[in-house]
Amino acid sequence: MTVSITLVQGDLTRQRVDALVNAANSSLLGGGGVDGAIHRRGGPEILADCRRLRASLPQALNSVRAGETPIGKGLPTGRAVATVAGKLDAGHVIHTVGPVWSATEDRSELLASCHREALRVAAELGARTVAFPAISTGVYRWPLDDAARVAVRTVREAADPALFDEVRFVLFDRAAYDAFAEALAASGDAT
Ligand code: ADP
Repeated sequence: MTVSITLVQGDLTRQRVDALVNAANSSLLGGGGVDGAIHRRGGPEILADCRRLRASLPQALNSVRAGETPIGKGLPTGRAVATVAGKLDAGHVIHTVGPVWSATEDRSELLASCHREALRVAAELGARTVAFPAISTGVYRWPLDDAARVAVRTVREAADPALFDEVRFVLFDRAAYDAFAEALAASGDAT
C-alpha cells in the first residue's frame, strides 16, 4: 500500500494540515515566492523561530553530511527543519531548501532529499497530513514536469502509509497542477 497523495490547485498558506512544507532558502530568513507568502500570512513568530533555529545549527540537524556546505552558514540544500506555524492553520512549518535547477548537473537527488527529509521531520512531529508546494519550480527554475516526477516518486517511496494519512501537493497555478496530475497518473494508482 502507498500513501494517499492528493493534488490541489491553490494557496499553500491556506491549507489546514498538520504540517506544511516551505520552499525556503538556506538563510531561513525569508524570501520571495511561497516562502514570502508563508511569513506574511503566518506572522512574525515563524521568523523568530527560524532565527532561533539558525542560531542552533548544526545541533538542530543532528549531523553534518560529507560534502555539505559548512552549516553555520545556513540550512544545507536538501535538508529540513521545523518551526511553529504562527497564525497559519497548520501545526508546524517544515522548511527545506530546494536545489537551484542546473542544465548541466543532475541535482534531482537533492530535490528528492528535500521531500524525504521533510517527511522524516513530519513523522518525528507526528504530523499525519502534510502539504508540499512545488519545491524549486519558482525562483529556482526547475522545469515543472521533471520536478513533479521527482516529487511524486519520492513521496510514494518515502511516505509510510502507516505514518501519514495524506500528502497533499498544493500547486499555485494550472500549469503546475497539470504537471503534477500527469506525474501522479504516470506513477501508478492516482488517489
Ligand atoms: P523555489 O525557490 O524553491 O523555486 P518559489 O517559492 O519561488 O520556490 O516557488 C516554488 C513554487 O511555489 C512555484 O511553483 C510557485 O509558483 C509556487 N508558489 C508561490 N506562492 C505559492 C503559494 N502561496 N502557494 C502555493 N504555491 C506557491
